[in-house]
Amino acid sequence: MTIATDRRSVLKLGLAGGAALASPQIMVRAAHAQAAMPDVDNPGFSRFRLGGFEVTAINDGLRPGDGVHTIFGVDREEAEVTALLEENFLPRDRFVNSFTPTLVNTGSELILFDTGLGAGAREGGLGRLRERLEASGYGADDVSVVVVTHFHGDHIGGLMENGAPAFPNARYVTGQAEYDFWTAQERLSGPTGNAARAVQANVTPLADQTTFIGDGDEVAPGITAMLAAGHTPGHMIFHLESEGRRLLLTADTANHYVASLQRPDWHVSFDMDKEAGAATRRRVFDMVAAERIPFLGYHMPFPAAGFAERLDGGYRFVPVSYQFLL
Ligand SMILES: [Zn+2]
Repeated sequence: MTIATDRRSVLKLGLAGGAALASPQIMVRAAHAQAAMPDVDNPGFSRFRLGGFEVTAINDGLRPGDGVHTIFGVDREEAEVTALLEENFLPRDRFVNSFTPTLVNTGSELILFDTGLGAGAREGGLGRLRERLEASGYGADDVSVVVVTHFHGDHIGGLMENGAPAFPNARYVTGQAEYDFWTAQERLSGPTGNAARAVQANVTPLADQTTFIGDGDEVAPGITAMLAAGHTPGHMIFHLESEGRRLLLTADTANHYVASLQRPDWHVSFDMDKEAGAATRRRVFDMVAAERIPFLGYHMPFPAAGFAERLDGGYRFVPVSYQFLL
Protein backbone atom coordinates (compact mmCIF):
# COMPACT_ATOMS: atom_id res chain seq x y z
CA MET A 1 0.00 0.00 0.00
CA THR A 2 1.46 3.36 -0.94
CA ILE A 3 1.43 6.23 1.49
CA ALA A 4 -0.93 8.14 -0.81
CA THR A 5 -3.60 5.41 -0.91
CA ASP A 6 -3.16 4.88 2.80
CA ARG A 7 -3.92 8.55 3.42
CA ARG A 8 -6.94 8.36 1.18
CA SER A 9 -8.30 5.35 3.05
CA VAL A 10 -7.76 7.14 6.36
CA LEU A 11 -9.79 10.06 5.04
CA LYS A 12 -12.54 7.73 3.86
CA LEU A 13 -12.66 6.02 7.22
CA GLY A 14 -12.88 9.40 8.88
CA LEU A 15 -15.84 10.34 6.72
CA ALA A 16 -17.50 6.98 7.33
CA GLY A 17 -17.74 7.72 11.03
CA GLY A 18 -16.21 6.78 14.35
CA ALA A 19 -16.87 3.05 14.13
CA ALA A 20 -14.29 2.71 11.36
CA LEU A 21 -11.57 3.87 13.77
CA ALA A 22 -11.64 0.44 15.41
CA SER A 23 -9.21 -0.64 12.67
CA PRO A 24 -5.93 -1.62 14.46
CA GLN A 25 -3.84 0.19 11.88
CA ILE A 26 -5.65 3.45 12.59
CA MET A 27 -5.24 2.98 16.35
CA VAL A 28 -1.49 2.79 15.90
CA ARG A 29 -1.52 6.00 13.88
CA ALA A 30 -3.68 7.74 16.47
CA ALA A 31 -1.11 6.92 19.15
CA HIS A 32 1.31 9.24 17.36
CA ALA A 33 -1.14 12.16 17.40
CA GLN A 34 -2.53 12.24 20.89
CA ALA A 35 -2.66 16.00 21.25
CA ALA A 36 -6.11 17.07 20.14
CA MET A 37 -6.13 19.90 17.61
CA PRO A 38 -7.63 22.79 19.54
CA ASP A 39 -10.50 24.59 17.83
CA VAL A 40 -8.89 27.99 18.36
CA ASP A 41 -8.82 30.47 15.52
CA ASN A 42 -5.90 32.82 14.94
CA PRO A 43 -6.54 36.32 16.32
CA GLY A 44 -7.12 37.81 12.86
CA PHE A 45 -5.25 41.06 13.33
CA SER A 46 -1.74 42.32 12.74
CA ARG A 47 -0.39 45.36 14.56
CA PHE A 48 2.67 47.50 13.91
CA ARG A 49 4.06 50.98 14.53
CA LEU A 50 4.46 53.59 11.86
CA GLY A 51 6.35 56.43 13.52
CA GLY A 52 3.93 57.79 16.10
CA PHE A 53 0.96 55.94 14.59
CA GLU A 54 -0.20 52.48 15.53
CA VAL A 55 -1.61 50.52 12.58
CA THR A 56 -3.81 47.44 13.00
CA ALA A 57 -4.72 45.41 9.91
CA ILE A 58 -7.85 43.39 10.69
CA ASN A 59 -8.90 40.34 8.71
CA ASP A 60 -12.65 40.55 8.09
CA GLY A 61 -12.56 36.98 6.75
CA LEU A 62 -11.30 34.82 3.91
CA ARG A 63 -13.42 33.78 0.96
CA PRO A 64 -12.26 30.95 -1.30
CA GLY A 65 -13.69 31.14 -4.80
CA ASP A 66 -13.57 29.65 -8.29
CA GLY A 67 -12.51 31.01 -11.59
CA VAL A 68 -9.56 33.36 -11.41
CA HIS A 69 -9.82 34.01 -15.15
CA THR A 70 -13.44 35.15 -14.91
CA ILE A 71 -12.23 38.05 -12.72
CA PHE A 72 -8.57 38.77 -13.52
CA GLY A 73 -7.32 39.07 -17.08
CA VAL A 74 -10.82 38.96 -18.56
CA ASP A 75 -9.37 40.48 -21.76
CA ARG A 76 -6.71 37.74 -22.03
CA GLU A 77 -6.70 34.10 -23.09
CA GLU A 78 -7.38 31.78 -20.17
CA ALA A 79 -4.10 29.92 -20.80
CA GLU A 80 -2.12 33.13 -20.28
CA VAL A 81 -3.79 33.68 -16.92
CA THR A 82 -3.37 30.10 -15.70
CA ALA A 83 0.29 30.07 -16.79
CA LEU A 84 1.04 33.15 -14.69
CA LEU A 85 -0.70 31.65 -11.67
CA GLU A 86 1.13 28.33 -11.94
CA GLU A 87 4.44 30.10 -12.40
CA ASN A 88 3.70 31.77 -9.05
CA PHE A 89 2.86 28.49 -7.26
CA LEU A 90 -0.90 29.20 -7.29
CA PRO A 91 -3.76 26.96 -8.39
CA ARG A 92 -5.12 27.78 -11.84
CA ASP A 93 -8.83 27.87 -11.10
CA ARG A 94 -9.28 28.74 -7.42
CA PHE A 95 -8.24 31.67 -5.27
CA VAL A 96 -8.79 33.03 -1.79
CA ASN A 97 -9.97 36.59 -1.40
CA SER A 98 -8.99 38.35 1.79
CA PHE A 99 -10.61 41.51 3.24
CA THR A 100 -8.58 43.89 5.38
CA PRO A 101 -10.16 46.89 7.12
CA THR A 102 -7.39 48.89 8.78
CA LEU A 103 -7.39 50.79 12.04
CA VAL A 104 -4.99 53.70 12.60
CA ASN A 105 -4.48 55.22 16.02
CA THR A 106 -2.81 58.59 15.43
CA GLY A 107 -2.61 59.39 19.13
CA SER A 108 -5.55 61.79 18.89
CA GLU A 109 -7.94 59.92 16.57
CA LEU A 110 -8.83 56.27 16.09
CA ILE A 111 -9.48 56.00 12.37
CA LEU A 112 -10.99 52.93 10.71
CA PHE A 113 -10.50 52.54 6.96
CA ASP A 114 -13.41 50.50 5.51
CA THR A 115 -15.78 48.24 7.39
CA GLY A 116 -15.77 44.79 5.77
CA LEU A 117 -18.75 42.76 4.64
CA GLY A 118 -20.83 43.18 7.78
CA ALA A 119 -23.52 41.11 9.45
CA GLY A 120 -24.90 39.63 6.23
CA ALA A 121 -21.67 37.70 5.67
CA ARG A 122 -21.24 36.26 9.17
CA GLU A 123 -22.99 33.00 8.44
CA GLY A 124 -20.30 32.35 5.83
CA GLY A 125 -17.49 33.10 8.30
CA LEU A 126 -16.84 36.67 7.14
CA GLY A 127 -17.89 40.06 8.55
CA ARG A 128 -15.55 39.53 11.51
CA LEU A 129 -14.26 43.11 11.82
CA ARG A 130 -16.13 43.93 15.07
CA GLU A 131 -15.15 40.74 16.83
CA ARG A 132 -11.51 41.12 15.83
CA LEU A 133 -11.39 44.84 16.58
CA GLU A 134 -12.37 43.83 20.13
CA ALA A 135 -9.82 41.02 20.18
CA SER A 136 -7.20 43.66 19.31
CA GLY A 137 -8.09 45.71 22.38
CA TYR A 138 -10.51 48.34 21.03
CA GLY A 139 -14.28 48.64 21.04
CA ALA A 140 -16.59 49.86 18.28
CA ASP A 141 -17.35 52.86 20.54
CA ASP A 142 -13.68 53.90 20.46
CA VAL A 143 -13.60 54.55 16.72
CA SER A 144 -13.69 58.32 16.15
CA VAL A 145 -13.50 58.43 12.34
CA VAL A 146 -14.59 55.91 9.71
CA VAL A 147 -13.05 56.48 6.28
CA VAL A 148 -14.72 54.71 3.35
CA THR A 149 -12.48 54.23 0.30
CA HIS A 150 -15.36 53.36 -2.03
CA PHE A 151 -18.89 52.01 -1.86
CA HIS A 152 -18.62 48.33 -2.84
CA GLY A 153 -20.38 45.96 -0.43
CA ASP A 154 -17.18 44.53 1.05
CA HIS A 155 -16.22 48.04 2.22
CA ILE A 156 -19.57 49.51 3.36
CA GLY A 157 -21.19 46.30 4.66
CA GLY A 158 -20.06 46.89 8.24
CA LEU A 159 -21.18 50.53 8.56
CA MET A 160 -24.53 49.52 10.04
CA GLU A 161 -25.38 46.90 12.64
CA ASN A 162 -29.07 46.00 13.13
CA GLY A 163 -30.07 49.18 11.31
CA ALA A 164 -28.02 51.48 13.56
CA PRO A 165 -24.51 52.88 13.08
CA ALA A 166 -21.98 50.19 13.97
CA PHE A 167 -19.48 52.80 15.20
CA PRO A 168 -21.81 55.09 17.17
CA ASN A 169 -19.27 57.74 18.17
CA ALA A 170 -17.66 58.11 14.75
CA ARG A 171 -17.83 60.77 12.11
CA TYR A 172 -17.29 59.71 8.50
CA VAL A 173 -15.03 60.68 5.64
CA THR A 174 -15.44 59.63 2.02
CA GLY A 175 -14.94 60.86 -1.53
CA GLN A 176 -17.37 63.40 -2.91
CA ALA A 177 -17.16 61.84 -6.38
CA GLU A 178 -18.01 58.38 -4.98
CA TYR A 179 -20.99 59.69 -3.07
CA ASP A 180 -22.31 61.68 -6.03
CA PHE A 181 -22.02 58.67 -8.34
CA TRP A 182 -23.78 56.12 -6.13
CA THR A 183 -26.54 58.38 -4.86
CA ALA A 184 -27.63 59.58 -8.32
CA GLN A 185 -31.19 58.40 -8.97
CA GLU A 186 -30.31 56.49 -12.16
CA ARG A 187 -27.97 54.07 -10.32
CA LEU A 188 -30.98 52.41 -8.71
CA SER A 189 -31.83 50.64 -11.96
CA GLY A 190 -29.71 48.41 -14.21
CA PRO A 191 -26.39 46.77 -13.27
CA THR A 192 -25.66 49.25 -10.43
CA GLY A 193 -29.05 48.68 -8.77
CA ASN A 194 -28.05 46.27 -6.01
CA ALA A 195 -24.97 48.23 -5.01
CA ALA A 196 -26.88 51.53 -5.06
CA ARG A 197 -29.54 50.07 -2.76
CA ALA A 198 -26.81 48.95 -0.35
CA VAL A 199 -25.46 52.52 -0.41
CA GLN A 200 -28.98 53.79 0.34
CA ALA A 201 -29.17 51.46 3.35
CA ASN A 202 -25.66 51.88 4.75
CA VAL A 203 -24.14 55.18 3.59
CA THR A 204 -26.92 57.70 2.92
CA PRO A 205 -28.26 57.63 6.51
CA LEU A 206 -24.81 58.80 7.70
CA ALA A 207 -24.51 61.70 5.25
CA ASP A 208 -25.10 64.38 7.91
CA GLN A 209 -22.04 63.19 9.85
CA THR A 210 -19.90 62.79 6.71
CA THR A 211 -17.12 65.00 5.41
CA PHE A 212 -16.84 64.71 1.63
CA ILE A 213 -13.30 65.01 0.31
CA GLY A 214 -11.34 65.16 -2.94
CA ASP A 215 -7.83 64.48 -4.19
CA GLY A 216 -5.16 65.88 -1.86
CA ASP A 217 -7.46 66.55 1.10
CA GLU A 218 -6.31 65.76 4.60
CA VAL A 219 -8.25 63.33 6.83
CA ALA A 220 -6.11 64.03 9.90
CA PRO A 221 -2.56 65.36 10.33
CA GLY A 222 -0.32 62.94 8.37
CA ILE A 223 -3.16 61.27 6.44
CA THR A 224 -3.81 62.50 2.92
CA ALA A 225 -6.37 61.31 0.37
CA MET A 226 -5.49 60.54 -3.24
CA LEU A 227 -8.13 59.99 -5.90
CA ALA A 228 -7.50 56.60 -7.57
CA ALA A 229 -10.52 56.26 -9.86
CA GLY A 230 -11.22 53.30 -12.12
CA HIS A 231 -12.20 50.53 -9.73
CA THR A 232 -15.10 52.88 -8.96
CA PRO A 233 -15.55 56.49 -10.13
CA GLY A 234 -14.57 57.98 -6.76
CA HIS A 235 -12.23 55.29 -5.38
CA MET A 236 -9.75 56.89 -2.94
CA ILE A 237 -6.48 55.73 -1.41
CA PHE A 238 -4.65 57.20 1.58
CA HIS A 239 -1.07 58.19 2.24
CA LEU A 240 0.05 57.91 5.88
CA GLU A 241 3.16 59.61 7.18
CA SER A 242 4.39 59.88 10.76
CA GLU A 243 7.88 60.76 11.96
CA GLY A 244 9.23 60.09 8.47
CA ARG A 245 7.64 56.61 8.17
CA ARG A 246 5.22 56.17 5.28
CA LEU A 247 2.52 53.70 4.29
CA LEU A 248 0.09 53.83 1.38
CA LEU A 249 -3.35 52.28 1.92
CA THR A 250 -4.07 51.26 -1.67
CA ALA A 251 -7.60 49.90 -1.05
CA ASP A 252 -8.80 48.14 -4.25
CA THR A 253 -6.29 49.61 -6.70
CA ALA A 254 -4.97 46.03 -7.10
CA ASN A 255 -7.15 43.10 -6.07
CA HIS A 256 -4.85 40.10 -6.60
CA TYR A 257 -1.24 40.09 -5.45
CA VAL A 258 -0.04 38.25 -8.56
CA ALA A 259 -2.51 38.89 -11.38
CA SER A 260 -3.11 42.59 -10.65
CA LEU A 261 0.47 43.48 -9.76
CA GLN A 262 2.52 41.43 -12.21
CA ARG A 263 0.07 42.23 -15.03
CA PRO A 264 -1.36 45.63 -14.06
CA ASP A 265 -2.83 46.19 -17.54
CA TRP A 266 -5.03 43.08 -17.44
CA HIS A 267 -8.67 43.97 -17.18
CA VAL A 268 -10.38 43.10 -13.91
CA SER A 269 -14.11 42.41 -13.83
CA PHE A 270 -14.37 44.23 -10.46
CA ASP A 271 -13.13 47.49 -12.04
CA MET A 272 -16.10 49.55 -13.22
CA ASP A 273 -13.88 51.34 -15.77
CA LYS A 274 -11.33 48.72 -16.91
CA GLU A 275 -8.94 51.09 -18.72
CA ALA A 276 -8.98 53.69 -15.95
CA GLY A 277 -8.47 50.91 -13.37
CA ALA A 278 -5.36 49.72 -15.22
CA ALA A 279 -4.00 53.26 -15.66
CA THR A 280 -4.48 53.94 -11.95
CA ARG A 281 -2.73 50.68 -11.01
CA ARG A 282 0.26 51.78 -13.08
CA ARG A 283 0.32 55.26 -11.59
CA VAL A 284 -0.03 54.10 -7.97
CA PHE A 285 2.37 51.15 -8.10
CA ASP A 286 4.93 53.09 -10.16
CA MET A 287 5.00 55.44 -7.18
CA VAL A 288 5.13 52.61 -4.60
CA ALA A 289 7.98 50.91 -6.49
CA ALA A 290 9.95 54.08 -7.28
CA GLU A 291 9.71 55.47 -3.75
CA ARG A 292 10.20 52.02 -2.18
CA ILE A 293 7.44 52.62 0.35
CA PRO A 294 5.32 49.92 1.98
CA PHE A 295 1.66 49.62 1.04
CA LEU A 296 -1.30 47.85 2.54
CA GLY A 297 -3.84 46.58 -0.01
CA TYR A 298 -7.33 45.66 1.15
CA HIS A 299 -7.35 42.40 -0.83
CA MET A 300 -3.68 41.47 -0.55
CA PRO A 301 -3.01 38.20 1.34
CA PHE A 302 -3.33 38.88 5.06
CA PRO A 303 -1.61 40.71 6.77
CA ALA A 304 -1.89 42.55 3.46
CA ALA A 305 1.22 44.72 3.72
CA GLY A 306 4.19 44.64 1.39
CA PHE A 307 6.37 46.36 -1.15
CA ALA A 308 6.20 46.40 -4.94
CA GLU A 309 9.35 45.64 -6.92
CA ARG A 310 9.41 46.32 -10.66
CA LEU A 311 9.37 43.05 -12.63
CA ASP A 312 8.80 42.33 -16.34
CA GLY A 313 6.83 45.51 -16.96
CA GLY A 314 4.74 44.96 -13.83
CA TYR A 315 5.44 44.56 -10.13
CA ARG A 316 6.25 41.72 -7.77
CA PHE A 317 4.57 41.72 -4.37
CA VAL A 318 7.17 41.48 -1.59
CA PRO A 319 5.42 40.83 1.75
CA VAL A 320 6.68 42.75 4.78
CA SER A 321 8.86 40.86 7.22
CA TYR A 322 10.46 42.84 10.09
CA GLN A 323 10.56 46.30 8.49
CA PHE A 324 7.93 47.73 10.86
CA LEU A 325 9.63 46.32 13.94
CA LEU A 326 12.63 48.61 13.51
ZN1 LIG B 1 -13.03 45.35 -2.26
